[in-house]
Amino acid sequence: MNHISHSNHRCSALFLDRDGIINIDKSYVFRFEEIEWVEGIFNLIQFANAQDLLVIVLTNQSGVAQGMYQESDVIDLHIQMNEYLKSKNCKVTDWFYCTEYDSSCRKPNPGMMIEAQKKYNINLYNSYMVGDKSTDILKIDGPTTFLVRGNYPLGDIDKTEKVEVFDSLADVLKRLKHAFQA
Ligand SMILES: [Mg+2]
Repeated sequence: MNHISHSNHRCSALFLDRDGIINIDKSYVFRFEEIEWVEGIFNLIQFANAQDLLVIVLTNQSGVAQGMYQESDVIDLHIQMNEYLKSKNCKVTDWFYCTEYDSSCRKPNPGMMIEAQKKYNINLYNSYMVGDKSTDILKIDGPTTFLVRGNYPLGDIDKTEKVEVFDSLADVLKRLKHAFQA
């Protein structure tokens, strides 16, 4: 795949799951003090920035529906994470979160991705989703999904042309560099 020339003017995106991909998944993290950055995340975002891929976070935050923390905690945390990422020369364009169960926004439902697609005019066929759970394979045509082995068993994943499994974010970065011939 060569993503250097686009057949239209729509942009491409690197969608990132949050817990387990950006920060270590300690279950229901909601305070900045709890954030431990996943190895390789800064390099991955910097590469996406250099390739003009929009970096957009899509995160299920049902801790809100469960009353474990408030929506305002999620918003505050994302502001703080975004500031820290900026200090590492990492630009994240937007953070989408889903606080509900049984919702079209809850991954694997594609609601958050569709919202982002409309807001930024994204060509999903030239876009990628990076996650660590089978539910990060969203029910939508277009993006290639890169799953990273971590806290969750991925043995039951249907590996198709559009789903690839890696051991680390460094391996995801290698794969992306290959796609971009960088
Ligand atoms: Mg995750």
